[in-house]
Amino acid sequence: MGLAEASEALDSLSAAIKDVGVNDTVTDRLGRISPVGSHAVGAVNLDHIVSNKAPQLSGVDLSVPSGQTSGSFKVSDKWRRLTGERVATTKPVSQKFFKGLREYILKTHGIEVVVGDHGGGRTQHEQDELYAQGRTKKGPIVTKTRRSKHIHGHAIDIVADPTGKDKKSNAIVAAAMRKYAKMHSKSFKTRFLGKWDANHVEIF
Ligand SMILES: [Zn+2]
Repeated sequence: MGLAEASEALDSLSAAIKDVGVNDTVTDRLGRISPVGSHAVGAVNLDHIVSNKAPQLSGVDLSVPSGQTSGSFKVSDKWRRLTGERVATTKPVSQKFFKGLREYILKTHGIEVVVGDHGGGRTQHEQDELYAQGRTKKGPIVTKTRRSKHIHGHAIDIVADPTGKDKKSNAIVAAAMRKYAKMHSKSFKTRFLGKWDANHVEIF
């Protein structure tokens, strides 16, 4: 949608809201509230308003769809099982770190973390295949090394959303991982990589 279209949609919504005397604010998917007509269109999903030229206020939903908390990935039993299997391929010290971190992020942020594909222990063959990706094979580059700590079970990739769509939640998890590691530096020696692999942690 273009900016002009979005702006027009906001104005028509504003008029409709005034008709029924509702407060002149909109709440976006993140719960941020902004005045109608402030043109903060980037944060507000207006698609359904445009497709519905004469919006009926009772049917207009600017909040988060029901059953969805903050746009986060919904962890299914399948993902729980996969996560458990992947963590089980790492060293006991890594497993212990993951279990503690998982509890911590659940408690502090209400986010249930998971381990994505190849995010646990890896065989050398698996690492070589990943290294080939984006070099001699199709796909994006996903690793910088053939000597990953994943091979020895001392690294885990921990995310909120393994599809990568919910960048915000994944960034929250990356920050929480660092905080947790600092809090428990007596129990775990950890190493983090740069922003390019923010959800990777090495545990010793
Ligand atoms: Zn990794």
